[in-house]
Amino acid sequence: MTLHDTLHDPDEAPGRDGLHIVVAGGGVAGLTAALALHAAGYDRVTVVEAARRSRPVGAGLNIMPNAVRELDALGLLDRLEAGALRTRELRYYHRSGGLISREPRGLGAGYRWPQLSVHRARLQQVLADAVRERLGTAAVVAGVRVSGVESAPGGRPRVQLEHRDGATRGRASLEPDVLIGADGIRSAVRAALNPDEGAPPWNGMIVWRGVSRMPARSVGGFMLIAGDDRQKAVVYPMTAPTGPDREVLVNWALAMPADADHAGMLGDWNRQVPVETFLRHYEGWEFDGVCVPEVLRAADAAYAYPMVDREPLERWTHGRTTLIGDAAHAMYPIGSNGATQSIVDARALAHAMAVHRDPDTALAAYEAARRPAMTELQRANRRLGPEVVINLAHERAPHGFTDVHDVIPAAELAAVAARYAATGAFDPDTVNQGSPYAVHPLGASS
Ligand SMILES: Cc1cc2nc3c(=O)[nH]c(=O)nc-3n(C[C@H](O)[C@H](O)[C@H](O)COP(=O)(O)OP(=O)(O)OC[C@H]3O[C@@H](n4cnc5c(N)ncnc54)[C@H](O)[C@@H]3O)c2cc1C
Repeated sequence: MTLHDTLHDPDEAPGRDGLHIVVAGGGVAGLTAALALHAAGYDRVTVVEAARRSRPVGAGLNIMPNAVRELDALGLLDRLEAGALRTRELRYYHRSGGLISREPRGLGAGYRWPQLSVHRARLQQVLADAVRERLGTAAVVAGVRVSGVESAPGGRPRVQLEHRDGATRGRASLEPDVLIGADGIRSAVRAALNPDEGAPPWNGMIVWRGVSRMPARSVGGFMLIAGDDRQKAVVYPMTAPTGPDREVLVNWALAMPADADHAGMLGDWNRQVPVETFLRHYEGWEFDGVCVPEVLRAADAAYAYPMVDREPLERWTHGRTTLIGDAAHAMYPIGSNGATQSIVDARALAHAMAVHRDPDTALAAYEAARRPAMTELQRANRRLGPEVVINLAHERAPHGFTDVHDVIPAAELAAVAARYAATGAFDPDTVNQGSPYAVHPLGASS
């Protein structure tokens, strides 16, 4: 079978204004974009995904209420919740064990939608199943990589594609009406639009992530973030207890400065490492009964990543090509925002495409609505976002405290959280107004 044969024939389906839209990348952003475009009346959508089959890559994600609202609008909330856990509380701890703050999350914080802790594989599966059901199995073309983008006559993008089948390499190109680059932090679409940009900048920190299966009582019912700006641990359960031992899946992520031991792993994006590589750095880390080393020892596997993000871009849109998700605005994994904002991007783009019939106007409207706020979030995350409170506590009381409010007044703690929520427009008042991205089938926004 040739690469051409594997591609969905865009001329078969009708669709709004007959536009054919190619989405590069079938991650959270790309799959949500396909679903959102379909809900907005676009049927001729082809997702081109480099991986041959979906793998349970990555670990847990927290999806904030502003994105859960959008997944609910797409009719996916019940399915997602069936394999996820509501995040009810977030606690920040000093590395000595002292509690810095505890905040309700989701419904308890006054949102109309919950915040969800979920395994990335589960979220991807829910999205991929819905794409297959609603757009057909041919809408996702797996094992095909976007290798370049040029301008075709008339301003349409010419998308270069390649796939490998054993030793055989197939090549093809497509000329869709619109190309959406949803191909992640090392996006080929972004690279084609910004050929001088190079690799994502690295801040010298390394992140270890993994998933552990343990009794629910060992991890409490909250999300914990502990440490300071140099050494950090994030731990939270992401499934309801099951079985006689009431086991849950626990997500964990650790961050520390890389040292010479880690230098060799930095070129490797998703490298599996033994837990013993970093376990010793977390001995004694225990917070209200959650023993971090115990969580780490229960891990199936551990993966190392360099802590990288992207410089904010001055433009996401070039002609009929634009970017969403990490391809547009990869940010440090702080504040549970990367996947959350990818979902919102997808809905915002589909909404703009439905409201403005002309794709050029639509892409400009999408970028105007999203890029300034995402630029602010990328910058806020470089300043540690809401997690700056663990750093403040460490700077002001390196050996710990008796009463945290002697170190950080309650009003200052509240102001940090509120400022960050306002930056990303995910404060309860804004979110509770309902989705601004609802569209009627004929294009009028509601
Ligand atoms: C440690 C850590 C913790 C995180 N925690 C959270 C959290 O709690 N909450 C949250 O919201 N976010 C979190 N994130 C961020 C989140 O993982 C990303 O922001 C999100 O996955 C971005 O989705 P995406 O679809 O844009 O990119 P990706 O998930 O990277 O998907 C890109 C897709 O494109 C495909 N692809 C790549 N290149 C090509 C190509 N050339 N052609 C075709 N296909 C291609 C890839 O195979 C992949 O399927 C975390 C990130 C890290 C590292």
